[in-house]
Amino acid sequence: MSELLIARDLTRHYQVSRGFLKGHATVKALNGVSFSLAPRRTLAVVGESGCGKSTLARQLTMIESATSGELRIDGVEVAHASLATIKQMRSKVQMVFQNPYASLNPRKQISSTLDEPLKINSALSKAERLEKVKAIVAKVGLRPEHIHRYPHMFSGGQRQRIAIARAMILNPKIVVADEPVSALDVSIQAQILNLFMDLQDEFGTGYVFISHNLAVVEHVANDLLVMYLGSAVEYGDKAKIYARPLHPYTQALMSATPAIRPEDRRIKIKIQGELPSPLNPPTGCAFHKRCPYAVERCSQEVPLLRQIDGRLVACHRVEEINV
Ligand code: SF4
Ligand code: MG
Repeated sequence: MSELLIARDLTRHYQVSRGFLKGHATVKALNGVSFSLAPRRTLAVVGESGCGKSTLARQLTMIESATSGELRIDGVEVAHASLATIKQMRSKVQMVFQNPYASLNPRKQISSTLDEPLKINSALSKAERLEKVKAIVAKVGLRPEHIHRYPHMFSGGQRQRIAIARAMILNPKIVVADEPVSALDVSIQAQILNLFMDLQDEFGTGYVFISHNLAVVEHVANDLLVMYLGSAVEYGDKAKIYARPLHPYTQALMSATPAIRPEDRRIKIKIQGELPSPLNPPTGCAFHKRCPYAVERCSQEVPLLRQIDGRLVACHRVEEINV
C-alpha cells in the first residue's frame, strides 16, 4: 500500500432550494474527480473559486460524505464510511487554513491550542503532551516561551507556523492546506512554504495544496490537478504541465500568472467572460463558453480525460490546438 490517498470518481452534488414553491436544484460541486497521493508528495489543486476546491477539501477532511465515488485514505474507504470509521480516520488528515488570524482561538494560549488535539486523540499524560507541544513548536521555528502567549502577540507568519504545528502535532498522514500563504506578506510566503517542505521531508506527510495561484504552488507541487467547475481538466506531473500546459484553461491560468517567468508563458490565451454557475453548468465541455477554441462539438459532448504527453487532459481539440 504505497498511496496515502486514492480518489476514484469522487462526486459531490448538493440539493439547494430555488426559493418558495420553485423546488430544488442540484449544484454539481464535484464531478467524478480521480487522483492519488503518495507519502512525501504534494498535489496542488488549482482553479478559480467555485471550481470545487473547497468541496474537495471537505471530502478529504471527511467533513462530508460523497454523493458517489470512492475515497481511500491510508487504505480505508471513507467516502461512505460509518461515523465510527470516520472518527478513527479523522486524525490522519489535518487541515491548514488560509487565514491564521481566524483559525486560532484568540482566548487560548498557544500551549492549550496545541494540546487540544493531543488531549482528544491520544492517551498521553499531561507531561507527555507538554513535551510534544514543545517539540513541535521548535520544529516550526518558534521559541519555547512562545507557548505561553496568545495569538494576537504573533505576526501573521508566526500564526501560520502555529497553525501548521497544530496540524502536524498528531503526525497526520495527510495535510490539506487551503491557500496557506495567500493571506501572508509575499516576503513571508517563501519561508512558510519552506517550512512545509522541511516538515514533509522529516515526517513523510503527503500534502494537498489548494490554491488559485500557480506561482505559489510551482515550487512545492509534485503533481498538479487543474479543476474547472467541479471537474478535472488537466492532471499529472507538475513539471510537465508547467513546461507545456495542454488544456486551454490551464494555458489561460498560466498566462494570467505574472510571477511565472515570461519565457515560460509561450501560450497567451485569455479566458472570456465569467465563471458559469455550478447550478446551471454549460452542456458539453463546461469551459466552452469561455474557450477561444470552442467548436460546436464542445457544447454537445463532455470531453473525457485522455492520456496525452504524460498527463491527463479533458479537451476534444487538445491535439489540434497544441501542434
Ligand atoms: Fe475548449 Fe472545446 Fe477543449 Fe473545451 S473541449 S477546452 S471548449 S476546445
Ligand atoms: Mg475556496
